[in-house]
Amino acid sequence: MGYGIHVCMTVYSHSRLSCFEQCSQKYKLQYVDKVETEVEGSVEAFLGTQAHETLEKLYKDLMHQKTNTLPDLLDFLRAQWAKNWSDSIVIVNKEYNSENYQKMAEKYISDYYYRYKPFDQGRTIALEQRILINLDESGEFKLQGFIDRLTEKKDGFYEIHDYKTNSRLPLPEYIKTDRQLALYSIGVKNQYPDVAHVRLIWHFLKFDKEIDSTRTDSELALLKKDTIALIEKIEREETFAASPSFLCEWCEFKPLCRQWSHHYKIKEKPANEYLADTGLNLVNRYAEIKNKQKLVNMELDAEITKLEEALVLFSSKEHIDCVFGTQNKVRITDSIRYVCPPKNSKERQRLEQTLREYGKYDLVTALDTAALNSILLEREWETDVVTALEKLVQLEKKKRLYVSKLKEK
Ligand code: SF4
Repeated sequence: MGYGIHVCMTVYSHSRLSCFEQCSQKYKLQYVDKVETEVEGSVEAFLGTQAHETLEKLYKDLMHQKTNTLPDLLDFLRAQWAKNWSDSIVIVNKEYNSENYQKMAEKYISDYYYRYKPFDQGRTIALEQRILINLDESGEFKLQGFIDRLTEKKDGFYEIHDYKTNSRLPLPEYIKTDRQLALYSIGVKNQYPDVAHVRLIWHFLKFDKEIDSTRTDSELALLKKDTIALIEKIEREETFAASPSFLCEWCEFKPLCRQWSHHYKIKEKPANEYLADTGLNLVNRYAEIKNKQKLVNMELDAEITKLEEALVLFSSKEHIDCVFGTQNKVRITDSIRYVCPPKNSKERQRLEQTLREYGKYDLVTALDTAALNSILLEREWETDVVTALEKLVQLEKKKRLYVSKLKEK
């Protein structure tokens, strides 16, 4: 990787990197253009902040030899909730209101309290601590993060605690490969010279569950390399294309985004103007015709299958291989072929391995043009390789249209 002459001025964070991975357009609006929006964020993020602040108070007071009772903590949470709540906070799931989410937060805190009381599992070293992570020797690539709680179990045995208010428990692969706490452990190792061991601990508050993991030095070295590669990709980015997904529901830039702005524009129009909108009418007609086309194709496919079965039966009964119409004929032949096991299956791996063992693999493999296309578009290989290959292929630009159903009217 050639980053010898590169000077990286930006201090990244895990959430900044994740934002780019989710949608590079959102990244540009948030971090490059620094666009201010009137939307205050989601109720899920709000709940997360209030729960974090309550747990921070719990441990901060403990560091000052003050133990809160559970009612003390719940009073604090309720007061924070009332003080910080604003009606412009987005509740995507309309079945629930602010009170429901507040009760959820209270349950998280109560469960946590009963599980860990008297909170003597380790010595608290820092709360909400900013940590700077150097990804390379020269300090060109830097990240910063905030550790919810750093504790020391015994001398040199550190624990990074992170509170999660996710609505789903993560799969074990997430814990094994999660970037955020692993990056923080690099920072802790840099900052505390007596580190002998770092344990990563996630508290999934909704599920009253503690999950832990560790990273080896070689895993951390690989993580640094991958994170530098991602930062380089961000700094090379020019198009910042939108990547619409279900996560758009929680995106504060939705009204500004080219993927959604038309929806917001027509939503505000009075009924007569709304129905006269050119785009709206074009989409309605396009979707109608596409639907009709789908139905007609399905009907035609079903009829073709029936006719083919009938023709095969007829030819076999009549002992003929060619059936004649007035202007066309249909020839029926026997076809046999070997069907290979599906891609990525164990059987397929065995087949490919056997072909390699007999030195025949190259004779039956073809260039995977779809894979090459995405590698070139994503600039996944070294610049000189991409440049050389780009001279041999043609970049075709055209518009593609996808029609899909809206969730609600
Ligand atoms: S609304 Fe969706 S596509 Fe648009 S910027 Fe936000 S995340 Fe990206």
